[in-house]
Amino acid sequence: MTTRRFFYPLLAGALYFAGARLGVAASAMSEGIAIFWLPNGILLAALLVARARDWPLYLGAAVLAEVFADLPAFTLWQALGFAAVNLFECLLAALVLRRLAQPFTFDRLRHVIWFGGVALLLAPGLAALPGAAIYAMDGDAQTSFWSYWRIWWVGDSLGVLMVVPLALGWLSGRSALRPLRILETAAILVVTSVLAWRIFVLGGGETGRLLDSPFLMLPLLLWPAIRLGVWETAAFGLLIAVAAILANLAGLGPFHSELPQATVLRVQEYLATLLFVSLALAALLQELRDRNESLQTHERELRESREAIWQLNLELESRVRARTEELQIANRLLEELASVDSLTGASNRRHFLEMARIEVGRALRLDMPVSAVMLDLDHFKRVNDVHGHEAGDRVLQTFANAIRTTLRSSDIFARLGGEEFMLLLPGQNRDNACALAERLRMLTASLECRECPEGVTVSIGVAGLGMHGAHDLDSLMRQADRALYVSKHAGRNRVSVIDDEAPDLGLAESGTGP
Ligand code: GH3
Ligand code: MG
Ligand code: MG
Repeated sequence: MTTRRFFYPLLAGALYFAGARLGVAASAMSEGIAIFWLPNGILLAALLVARARDWPLYLGAAVLAEVFADLPAFTLWQALGFAAVNLFECLLAALVLRRLAQPFTFDRLRHVIWFGGVALLLAPGLAALPGAAIYAMDGDAQTSFWSYWRIWWVGDSLGVLMVVPLALGWLSGRSALRPLRILETAAILVVTSVLAWRIFVLGGGETGRLLDSPFLMLPLLLWPAIRLGVWETAAFGLLIAVAAILANLAGLGPFHSELPQATVLRVQEYLATLLFVSLALAALLQELRDRNESLQTHERELRESREAIWQLNLELESRVRARTEELQIANRLLEELASVDSLTGASNRRHFLEMARIEVGRALRLDMPVSAVMLDLDHFKRVNDVHGHEAGDRVLQTFANAIRTTLRSSDIFARLGGEEFMLLLPGQNRDNACALAERLRMLTASLECRECPEGVTVSIGVAGLGMHGAHDLDSLMRQADRALYVSKHAGRNRVSVIDDEAPDLGLAESGTGP
């Protein structure tokens, strides 16, 4: 961990030293002022990615590298002066850029604009003031302070432009070339090299041919900016810069002029403009690509969550459906429970009255016959007394089952209470009802019941709607009740109707019996 902590500052110092040596070697002017100054790019890149607590290590390494690189050509005080100026420039740029964006990357146009304003204009512009002063103090009289300032400023900017985007792109890991793009990258490399050779090496003089124009490099750099990425564009920019500078140092290329500082300025400003514009474009395109990608991710997530909601809805609907069915079944069961006598399974009194009222109403409307049959088990108290209440219950069940199995589905059979039952027979006139009642009486008498071996009998009263004043359900039931009373009176185990020909009693047996 500790070794690593010192390794990177040492590496940065070594690169700084190499960059400074390269800058001095690639000087086009007798004063040794550099066309491009890479060390500041190296130090700025290091400060942008390193942790702030490691900054002193990088700054110390940079001071040492600067002094060692400068000493052969400059005095110690000059070297220390240059070191102070360069450190000031890098620190200022790094502090501001880190404050603006952390981590600082080149995949946003906004960042590239900040980078241009701070690291290419403000910081080197300020640093160039004392820097140019050091030169001007013992430079030749031909070069003015402002020429030194301008060359120092653009030279620093160019160095920063050549190194920082490339270094940050490479360190951020975004630099990996996708395999499919290797062929295309090779193609760009070939075209760039050929064009660079043509423009910067062969293209000197005043040929005026389109293919010799250094500005062709800008549309060429659009290629990696559109198809590859920021890092790749910066790499091709560096390649072009190196070619232009080398050719220029060899006295070739389209930028030559009589005055050496004019030549230097032309190369610097051409390269700085080219690199910055292509960097900004690449960043803008990268930003658009990133946004598009995140938009697509968003859309996909939206689609997925919509599908999930749809699925949930379906599940919910089917659960609601199932629950509703369960409720309906439970409701039906409840209704049944509310309308059925639990001991015998016959309808209860409430349900009977409800249904019978409907049937009687319909019969009256359609002038159809309907009859009521009232049944009461004979001497049932005795059954209970002799065999017990439970045996009585069993007898009631046996009786009710036997009656129910003889009836039609339209007949309504109910237990009114105790051992008293009622039948409503829609569509049956009194005679038919009497015939049925007689069958039921005989059926009852023949019932075999283990709990009551001597068997039971039933007394029955029959009434028909429209006869003897039975003009509605209440009077119909009353008549049937009266007829039952007649049966009981006449000795039980028989069927009776009210007979008009027995006016004194108001009641008369007119039925069958044993
Ligand atoms: P009658 O021939 O005059 O009808 O005589 P009865 O004994 O059948 O008539 P009564 O009305 O005096 O007695 C009815 C008896 O029915 C009284 C009661 O013990 C019995 N009973 C009523 N409900 C039930 C029941 O749910 N279960 C049982 N086991 N017995 C019942
Ligand atoms: Mg009875
Ligand atoms: Mg009774």
